[in-house]
Amino acid sequence: MELEKEKSYLKYKKISNKILIGVDIGGTLAKFAIVNEKSQLEIENILNSFENMKKIETGNYILHLLFFPTNDFEIEIKPLLNKLNKISPIKEIHATGGGAYKFETLMKKNFQIDFIKNDELISLVEGYIFIKNYSFIYKIEDFDKKIIVPNSDLKYPHISVNIGSGVSILKVNSPFKKDIQRVAGTIMGGGTLIGLSKLLIGIDNYNEILNLAQKGDYHKLDLSYEEIYGKNYIKNNNNYKNEIPVSSFGKIYDLMTVKKNSFEKEDIAVSLLYMICLHITQIANLCAKKYKIDTIYFFGNFTRSSFAISLLNKASLIWNKNLNIRFNILDGFLGVVGTLVEKNED
Ligand code: ADP
Repeated sequence: MELEKEKSYLKYKKISNKILIGVDIGGTLAKFAIVNEKSQLEIENILNSFENMKKIETGNYILHLLFFPTNDFEIEIKPLLNKLNKISPIKEIHATGGGAYKFETLMKKNFQIDFIKNDELISLVEGYIFIKNYSFIYKIEDFDKKIIVPNSDLKYPHISVNIGSGVSILKVNSPFKKDIQRVAGTIMGGGTLIGLSKLLIGIDNYNEILNLAQKGDYHKLDLSYEEIYGKNYIKNNNNYKNEIPVSSFGKIYDLMTVKKNSFEKEDIAVSLLYMICLHITQIANLCAKKYKIDTIYFFGNFTRSSFAISLLNKASLIWNKNLNIRFNILDGFLGVVGTLVEKNED
């Protein structure tokens, strides 16, 4: 019964003018979803000219996914609209995220386009329901191996963690709207990683930070139990999880005053990443514990990097080795896909 109901959700909004466009304008990134019929080759040719365009076949339609920095929204959307307008005049865009309000006047004034506004949480949930029709969910094995799992593998209820600039944590009892509630969140998310990295090592490019982090060693800066209690104490007390630092960056004081600069920017990057991943996974784990749930599902653009994903997976299992941890290949695009899906009434 539930399956039949889910299948009926696999519907886009009506495509009136060859093309359907959605945008989710967040604190850091503006995500676009563009849907057209497979047979519309002119549109395909235009969209193929954009670098980093993700394409997914969904029945007779192709779903195109693209993101720009929110700060460059106006500059980046111009060539896209100019090209598409030559084929089919764009009059409206389905919009969600804070930018749906912030950029509304600009879109009307400069491009004569109406933003049809969609609630953020509802869009996320609609995207969530929509992608359940595809094989997009995966788990991690052996630190970094991604294994696609059947959708039935994502158990209900589960805790769903959206890591964008900040973090929202939802409790999902079933894939239907009425059964999804926001239970927690934290201000320490992907935006914090970029902001602190810029301050500490002068780098604000997400991919660059993650590449550096991969080469760093968090033990250089983070203070461990062993360093406070000594090896013998730890050996005789199994309760201490020595992989979890007692204090992120807790050794800096000592290093800067006594030993002088025995760390590199790679070590700072990985300590930052550990701090954020341990913080988010701890809150997610506490939510799971509170509601007696054993599955946590992560998404949002912070989960674009394989290294970030591996750390989220590892950190979650440090808190509780019996948790099932899941991710999905659409990372930060769930909300924008949800703006293009025909709303269901549940
Ligand atoms: P928001 O809607 O708040 O912008 P997203 O889900 O788009 O949230 O995630 C934004 C986060 O994704 C950033 O804070 C950063 O950590 C991460 N990220 C991944 N790829 C990029 C990128 N190319 N540029 C900037 N941030 C990125």
